[in-house]
Amino acid sequence: MNIIDGKQIAQNLRNDIAKKVKQLDHAPGLAVILVGDDPASEVYVRNKDNACKEVGFYSEKINKSANITQQELLDEIRRLNNNDKIDGILVQLPLPKHLDANLVIETISPQKDVDGFHSENIGKLMQNKAYLRPCTPKGVMTMLATIGIDLVGKDCVVVGASNIVGRPMLMELLNARATVTICNSKTQDLSGKLRRADVVVAAVGIPQMIQGDWIKPGAVVIDVGINRLESGKLVGDVDFDSATKNASWMTPVPGGVGPMTIATLLENTLTAYQNRT
Ligand code: NDP
Repeated sequence: MNIIDGKQIAQNLRNDIAKKVKQLDHAPGLAVILVGDDPASEVYVRNKDNACKEVGFYSEKINKSANITQQELLDEIRRLNNNDKIDGILVQLPLPKHLDANLVIETISPQKDVDGFHSENIGKLMQNKAYLRPCTPKGVMTMLATIGIDLVGKDCVVVGASNIVGRPMLMELLNARATVTICNSKTQDLSGKLRRADVVVAAVGIPQMIQGDWIKPGAVVIDVGINRLESGKLVGDVDFDSATKNASWMTPVPGGVGPMTIATLLENTLTAYQNRT
């Protein structure tokens, strides 16, 4: 069994981006808006800000109080849409309940939507014409390409159908000409479907739910899940120890998909910059 070293693949991607940035006449800019003081979101935003600095991007961290009104937040986004120093805008999710996350995403200019969540960018992904693609699924595709997996004609099963991971993952795999099954909480015989999969992508949010004997011998297993156990330990959606007995390649948690998501955000910001200049 081979471990897919997301940390290293992400580092290589950041190094490539840093080299490209040195050749530009000005730095690509990313604005990250954080509403409220959710500790997990603060960590994600700090990591994104540090990653920007590492590759030489201009970055703005914008902290807004949890009491911000919908109008004030939309006005801030519109200001950033018109700010020439900013190529990418990201609003850290989840937002406080009184804010309409969908409206917030739709207000970001599609050209600056580096999370790839705007309906225009999702629509383009459906047509296999996207240039700003959701970071986590795109990062998974980079990992699969790096380890040399040819997806054409492969049977892939995506477990989880959220807008940010499962659904765009389905499209990415289909665009790579795989045959894709996507599962949700109502799926019948999940283990039977997984046992036929050449590639499994787990994005459920239930710790160690997928058992090793559900994995076909030789399958590639990508675990997007990040779950904290009561002990404080971080685990994925797949039971790592039992799955390694059958998988040929597998991502660890942490150190798998997580670092790829941030590196892909930087890649998208560079793409947005290149498309604007
Ligand atoms: P959501 O909660 O938005 O979606 C979970 C999906 O899993 C839903 O489609 C749900 O089905 C499905 N599901 C729930 N229970 C089952 C089940 N028993 N069998 C099959 N499917 C099931 O989660 P996210 O997509 O936002 O996140 C998933 C995981 O990935 C989380 O652990 C999260 O922390 C992690 N994550 C990691 C990232 C990274 O960078 N590594 C980035 C984003 C997320 P239904 O549609 O029926 O409700």
